Amino acid sequence: MRTLITGGAGFLGSHLCDRLLAEGHEVVCVDNFITGRPANIAHLRGNPKFKVIVHNASEPLFIDGLVDNVMHFASPASPVDYVKSSIQTLKVGSLGTWVALGLAKAHCARFLLASTSEVYGDPEIHPQTEDYWGHVNPVGERSMYDEAKRFAEAMTMAYHREHGVNTGIVRIFNTYGPRMRLDDGRVLPNFVGQALRGEPLTVYGEGQQTRSFCYVTDLVDGIFKLLMSGHHMPVNIGNPAEITIRQFADEILRLTGSKSKIEFRPMPPDDPKQRKPDITKARTLLGWEPKVDREEGLKKTLEYFKAKV
Ligand code: NAD
Ligand code: UDP
Repeated sequence: MRTLITGGAGFLGSHLCDRLLAEGHEVVCVDNFITGRPANIAHLRGNPKFKVIVHNASEPLFIDGLVDNVMHFASPASPVDYVKSSIQTLKVGSLGTWVALGLAKAHCARFLLASTSEVYGDPEIHPQTEDYWGHVNPVGERSMYDEAKRFAEAMTMAYHREHGVNTGIVRIFNTYGPRMRLDDGRVLPNFVGQALRGEPLTVYGEGQQTRSFCYVTDLVDGIFKLLMSGHHMPVNIGNPAEITIRQFADEILRLTGSKSKIEFRPMPPDDPKQRKPDITKARTLLGWEPKVDREEGLKKTLEYFKAKV
C-alpha cells in the first residue's frame, strides 16, 4: 500500500509515518513545517519506502503513481499555534481538505480526515458521543480551528455522498507523548517544562475544567484501525480517563518530584469546561480501546522531555 499523509512531520503525523512503515506501507509525507519539525522524521531519512514533499497542503498537489490512502493531518493543532496562524489554519482546514479530497478522488484512494473533539466546542452533553452536533462559537477566539474542522467534516461527507469517495473521519481527543514541542503551549508541555525548570505551573482559571488524555501509541492504533475499516461516519478516538486541570498539575508535580508552585492565570475565552470521549463506537466498530494508562504514558513522555529542557 502507498499512503500519503499531510502533516506527516508533526507530532501525530510522524508517529503515524512510523506505524504505516511498520505495517509495510510506502509513505509520502507532505509538510511545510509550519508547526512540525524535520527532527520528528529525521530517523526515516534514507528509508526507500519514505518520501518527503515540502509543500503547503492548501495549494494544489499532484502525485505520480498509485496512492491507496490519503490522510489529511496538516493543521496547526495547539491553541497557541492556531491563534497565531489563524488564516493558515482556516485555509488548511478548508482548501487543504478540498485538495486532499481531490487527490483521494483522482487516485480512488481511501481518505481519512484528522478532525477533533473541538467540533463539539464547549459541550453541553457529557461524555461526548459522535451524534452530538456541538456548541461552537463561530466568531470566537478558537473559531479558526473549530469551524475549519467542522467545514472539513462537511466537505468530507460531501465528497463521500456526491462523488462516492471512500472517506473516514477521526475525531481526536487530547493526545500526548514524545515529539510534542516543549513550546507548543498545550497544557502538558507547559506543565512539564515548568516543573522541570522549577517555574510555577500556570493553571488557567481555577483549573476545574476537565480533559481526558490519550497516549500517542493508543491513538495511532485506533487511527490505523479506522483507516483500514472503510467506515465513513465520524469516530471518536481518545482515552475516557477524565481529570481536572488542577489535578493534572498535581500529577505532574508528583511524577517529576518538582517543588514548583501553582500560579492561577485568566481562563482563555471559549475554553471548553469539560471533555471526555464516549468511545463505544470505536470499541464496537474497531475493537479498539486505549491500553496505556496516564501514569505509564506520562512517565514515558517525561523521559523524552527531560532530554529537551
Ligand atoms: P502538529 O502541529 O505537531 O502537526 C501538524 C503538522 O501539520 C505539522 O507538521 C505542520 O508543519 C503541518 N502543517 C500545518 N499546516 C500545513 C500546511 N498548510 N501545509 C503542510 N503542512 C502543514 O499537531 P498534531 O498534534 O500532530 O496534530 C495533527 C493533526 O491532528 C491536526 O490536524 C490536528 O488538528 C489533529 N488533532 C490533534 C490533537 C492532539 O491532541 N494532538 C487533537 C485533535 C486533533
Ligand atoms: N491550560 C492550563 N495551563 C496551561 C495551558 C493550558 O491551565 O499552561 C488549560 C487550558 O486552559 C485548557 C486545558 O489546559 O483548559 C487544555 O489545554 P490545551 O491547550 O492543552 O488544549 P485544549 O484541550 O484546550 O485544546
